[in-house]
Amino acid sequence: MPVEGRPVSSAERGLPRTGIGVDVHPFEAGRVLWLACCEWPGETGVGGHSDGDVAAHAACDALLSAAGLGDLGAIFGTDRPEWSGASGARLLAEVARLVSESGYVIGNVSVQIIGNRPKIGPRRLAAEQAMSAAIGAPVSVAATTTDGLGLTGRGEGIAAIATALIAPA
Ligand code: MG
Repeated sequence: MPVEGRPVSSAERGLPRTGIGVDVHPFEAGRVLWLACCEWPGETGVGGHSDGDVAAHAACDALLSAAGLGDLGAIFGTDRPEWSGASGARLLAEVARLVSESGYVIGNVSVQIIGNRPKIGPRRLAAEQAMSAAIGAPVSVAATTTDGLGLTGRGEGIAAIATALIAPA
Protein backbone atom coordinates (compact mmCIF):
# COMPACT_ATOMS: atom_id res chain seq x y z
CA MET A 1 0.00 0.00 0.00
CA PRO A 2 1.24 3.53 -0.70
CA VAL A 3 2.38 5.43 2.37
CA GLU A 4 0.79 8.80 3.01
CA GLY A 5 3.08 11.74 2.36
CA ARG A 6 5.67 10.08 0.21
CA PRO A 7 5.68 8.66 -3.29
CA VAL A 8 4.62 5.11 -3.92
CA SER A 9 7.88 3.34 -3.25
CA SER A 10 9.53 0.47 -4.95
CA ALA A 11 9.40 -1.31 -1.58
CA GLU A 12 6.12 -2.85 -2.54
CA ARG A 13 7.82 -4.30 -5.59
CA GLY A 14 10.73 -5.57 -3.52
CA LEU A 15 13.31 -3.33 -5.14
CA PRO A 16 16.11 -1.54 -3.31
CA ARG A 17 16.17 2.25 -3.26
CA THR A 18 19.07 4.67 -3.52
CA GLY A 19 19.45 8.11 -2.03
CA ILE A 20 21.87 11.01 -2.34
CA GLY A 21 22.93 13.79 -0.01
CA VAL A 22 25.33 16.75 -0.06
CA ASP A 23 26.46 19.11 2.68
CA VAL A 24 28.91 21.99 3.05
CA HIS A 25 30.02 24.00 6.06
CA PRO A 26 32.50 26.90 6.19
CA PHE A 27 35.60 26.78 8.35
CA GLU A 28 35.26 28.84 11.51
CA ALA A 29 38.26 29.52 13.70
CA GLY A 30 37.98 28.58 17.35
CA ARG A 31 35.59 25.68 16.87
CA VAL A 32 36.32 22.00 17.37
CA LEU A 33 36.16 20.01 14.16
CA TRP A 34 33.68 17.13 14.07
CA LEU A 35 33.77 15.11 10.88
CA ALA A 36 32.48 11.60 10.17
CA CYS A 37 31.39 11.27 13.80
CA CYS A 38 34.98 11.80 14.97
CA GLU A 39 36.64 14.72 16.71
CA TRP A 40 39.72 15.98 14.87
CA PRO A 41 42.06 17.60 17.42
CA GLY A 42 44.23 20.40 16.07
CA GLU A 43 42.05 21.00 13.02
CA THR A 44 39.94 24.08 12.36
CA GLY A 45 36.25 23.49 13.01
CA VAL A 46 33.34 24.62 10.91
CA GLY A 47 30.42 26.96 11.51
CA GLY A 48 26.76 26.11 11.72
CA HIS A 49 23.96 25.52 14.19
CA SER A 50 25.02 21.91 14.68
CA ASP A 51 28.44 20.37 15.09
CA GLY A 52 28.81 20.90 11.34
CA ASP A 53 29.65 17.28 10.57
CA VAL A 54 29.27 17.41 6.78
CA ALA A 55 29.90 13.68 6.35
CA ALA A 56 27.19 12.76 8.84
CA HIS A 57 24.76 15.30 7.41
CA ALA A 58 25.29 14.16 3.82
CA ALA A 59 24.80 10.55 4.94
CA CYS A 60 21.60 11.50 6.77
CA ASP A 61 20.21 13.17 3.67
CA ALA A 62 21.17 10.18 1.51
CA LEU A 63 19.32 7.83 3.85
CA LEU A 64 16.29 10.09 4.12
CA SER A 65 16.04 10.51 0.35
CA ALA A 66 16.39 6.76 -0.18
CA ALA A 67 13.44 6.20 2.13
CA GLY A 68 11.44 9.05 0.61
CA LEU A 69 11.37 10.80 3.97
CA GLY A 70 12.52 14.24 2.84
CA ASP A 71 15.68 15.83 4.20
CA LEU A 72 17.43 16.96 7.36
CA GLY A 73 15.76 20.34 7.33
CA ALA A 74 12.33 18.75 7.13
CA ILE A 75 13.00 16.22 9.89
CA PHE A 76 15.10 18.26 12.33
CA GLY A 77 14.10 21.80 11.32
CA THR A 78 13.91 24.88 13.47
CA ASP A 79 10.50 23.87 14.79
CA ARG A 80 12.18 21.04 16.68
CA PRO A 81 14.60 22.86 19.01
CA GLU A 82 15.35 19.63 20.85
CA TRP A 83 17.53 18.69 17.88
CA SER A 84 19.45 21.96 17.60
CA GLY A 85 23.12 21.31 18.23
CA ALA A 86 22.67 17.55 17.97
CA SER A 87 25.83 15.66 17.04
CA GLY A 88 26.20 14.03 13.66
CA ALA A 89 26.18 10.62 15.33
CA ARG A 90 22.91 11.37 17.11
CA LEU A 91 21.29 12.60 13.90
CA LEU A 92 22.48 9.52 12.03
CA ALA A 93 21.12 7.20 14.70
CA GLU A 94 17.74 8.89 14.58
CA VAL A 95 17.67 8.82 10.77
CA ALA A 96 18.53 5.11 10.82
CA ARG A 97 15.66 4.57 13.24
CA LEU A 98 13.26 6.45 10.94
CA VAL A 99 14.41 4.45 7.92
CA SER A 100 13.86 1.23 9.84
CA GLU A 101 10.47 2.46 11.06
CA SER A 102 9.52 3.03 7.41
CA GLY A 103 10.07 -0.64 6.67
CA TYR A 104 13.57 -0.62 5.23
CA VAL A 105 16.91 -2.13 6.13
CA ILE A 106 20.07 -0.15 5.34
CA GLY A 107 22.38 -1.88 2.88
CA ASN A 108 25.25 0.57 2.98
CA VAL A 109 26.18 4.23 2.86
CA SER A 110 29.12 5.65 0.93
CA VAL A 111 30.52 9.07 1.80
CA GLN A 112 33.10 11.15 -0.03
CA ILE A 113 34.59 14.10 1.87
CA ILE A 114 35.81 16.97 -0.30
CA GLY A 115 38.40 19.40 0.99
CA ASN A 116 42.03 20.21 1.62
CA ARG A 117 41.94 19.45 5.34
CA PRO A 118 41.81 17.40 7.41
CA LYS A 119 43.74 14.60 5.75
CA ILE A 120 41.32 11.71 5.97
CA GLY A 121 43.60 8.81 5.09
CA PRO A 122 45.25 8.24 8.48
CA ARG A 123 41.89 8.11 10.25
CA ARG A 124 39.71 6.74 7.49
CA LEU A 125 39.03 3.43 9.21
CA ALA A 126 38.14 5.14 12.48
CA ALA A 127 35.75 7.39 10.57
CA GLU A 128 34.13 4.39 8.91
CA GLN A 129 33.78 2.60 12.23
CA ALA A 130 32.24 5.61 13.95
CA MET A 131 29.71 6.24 11.19
CA SER A 132 28.90 2.54 10.83
CA ALA A 133 28.26 2.31 14.56
CA ALA A 134 25.88 5.26 14.36
CA ILE A 135 23.61 3.65 11.74
CA GLY A 136 24.24 -0.03 12.43
CA ALA A 137 25.25 -0.70 8.81
CA PRO A 138 28.43 -0.42 6.74
CA VAL A 139 29.62 3.10 5.89
CA SER A 140 32.50 3.69 3.47
CA VAL A 141 34.46 6.93 3.82
CA ALA A 142 36.71 8.31 1.10
CA ALA A 143 38.12 11.75 0.39
CA THR A 144 39.26 13.96 -2.43
CA THR A 145 40.47 17.47 -3.13
CA THR A 146 39.45 19.73 -5.98
CA ASP A 147 42.85 20.81 -7.29
CA GLY A 148 42.58 24.20 -5.64
CA LEU A 149 39.25 25.00 -7.30
CA GLY A 150 36.01 26.06 -5.69
CA LEU A 151 35.22 26.77 -2.07
CA THR A 152 36.90 23.61 -0.82
CA GLY A 153 39.94 24.16 -3.02
CA ARG A 154 40.33 27.68 -1.64
CA GLY A 155 40.22 26.23 1.86
CA GLU A 156 36.96 27.95 2.78
CA GLY A 157 35.23 24.87 4.10
CA ILE A 158 34.52 21.17 3.86
CA ALA A 159 31.97 19.43 1.65
CA ALA A 160 30.68 15.89 1.52
CA ILE A 161 28.52 13.86 -0.81
CA ALA A 162 26.91 10.58 0.11
CA THR A 163 24.83 7.82 -1.37
CA ALA A 164 22.75 5.24 0.45
CA LEU A 165 21.22 1.93 -0.52
CA ILE A 166 18.26 0.59 1.41
CA ALA A 167 15.97 -2.34 0.78
CA PRO A 168 12.55 -3.42 2.00
CA ALA A 169 12.95 -5.13 5.37
MG1 MG B 1 25.10 20.40 7.66
